[in-house]
Amino acid sequence: MTQANDFSTDAVRAGYERTHEGEHSEAIFATSSFVFSNAAQAADRFTNNAPGNVYSRFTNPTVRAFEHRLATLEGGEACVATSSGMAAIMACCVALLEPGDHVVASTGLFGSTLQFFKKYLTRMGNPVAFAKIDQPSDWQQKITPRTRLLFVETPSNPLTQLADIKALATLARDNSAILVVDNCFCTPALQKPLELGADIVIHSATKYIDGQGRCVGGAVVGDNKRVGEEVYGFLRTAGPTMSAFNAWVFLKGLETLELRMQRHCQSAAEIAQWLKQHPAVSRVYYPGLADHPQHQLCQAQQTDFGGVVSFEVQGGQTQAWQVIDNTQMLSITANLGDAKTTITHPATTTHGRLTDDDREEAGINQSLLRVAVGLESVKDISRDLARGLDLIAMD
Ligand SMILES: *Cc1c(COP(=O)(O)O)cnc(C)c1O
Repeated sequence: MTQANDFSTDAVRAGYERTHEGEHSEAIFATSSFVFSNAAQAADRFTNNAPGNVYSRFTNPTVRAFEHRLATLEGGEACVATSSGMAAIMACCVALLEPGDHVVASTGLFGSTLQFFKKYLTRMGNPVAFAKIDQPSDWQQKITPRTRLLFVETPSNPLTQLADIKALATLARDNSAILVVDNCFCTPALQKPLELGADIVIHSATKYIDGQGRCVGGAVVGDNKRVGEEVYGFLRTAGPTMSAFNAWVFLKGLETLELRMQRHCQSAAEIAQWLKQHPAVSRVYYPGLADHPQHQLCQAQQTDFGGVVSFEVQGGQTQAWQVIDNTQMLSITANLGDAKTTITHPATTTHGRLTDDDREEAGINQSLLRVAVGLESVKDISRDLARGLDLIAMD
């Protein structure tokens, strides 16, 4: 996919071929299979000797439109849509790793990604080592002669630490490994990992790409060989594909992605500043703050600072829960990237299954809260957070 148009144009128009019905909005192809004109055509399509649809586990026009549009926005040659973000990570690892291949992944990963790496990938014969996300020298140390894949999620959840994608891409290339970036927090509206040298981009479309908390889905974006052939081949065979309906929802989500991200970022920056001056808040994690240790890297690597703000309250779990339980509007849920602002206590939810050691290693303490800033007014979001924060400040 070459990027012929500007991002905002491609987000609305790329990837879809109107059918003979002349529909203006993309059609949902709710069909499990497709019919052939004759036996020879069926044989040709099954053996890939002729293009065309066969069966919706691996060829569906609505899903293909989403794949083409996302590939265009990320600047990738190929995209494969999956049933969830986790299915995208699984498909990428299973399709691209040989038994014995070694993986180095960043600390501070999404909880299920960490579980998948530690419990299942290792069991399948691919040991995983973990490197500090913001220290390329630690990555260098963890790399072995068998390392074939570096995996990073940047900014990290929930502490918003950044990986230097260019530095890791160089490290990967120097060691005959590939760099895989989970771009869920930024989306291509804020960060283009492939342009920075990464080989593959992973998405949980469930988050900002949907944007309204409706569907679970994911995607793998990259070159024709690895993604278009190998990841696609695994998905075609093993089956964790995206449904036509979900692809349609995500197509619609992409149309408004850039606009929504602008508002998420602007509001998150204001909330971060507001939290910083609140007496009940001891620390704020947001790359847009001038005192964030990677503020400059963020300016170089992303076009804006993102919609997620984390902060520590004075006290511990009691005080953190007090903030959550005194909200009246915010959604108490672990989802993010939604029009509705969400609030989470990571230590007892998203990171609750980790051992105390792993949680400490990830830097997640009991006083930490994560807010994924939505599209409501900043005034109303801060007023809702203030209900609990003001009580703590008075104690
Ligand atoms: C949610 C999430 C995932 C997993 O995606 P699902 O769609 O829930 O399977 C992976 N990575 C990150 C950073 C996420 O936030």
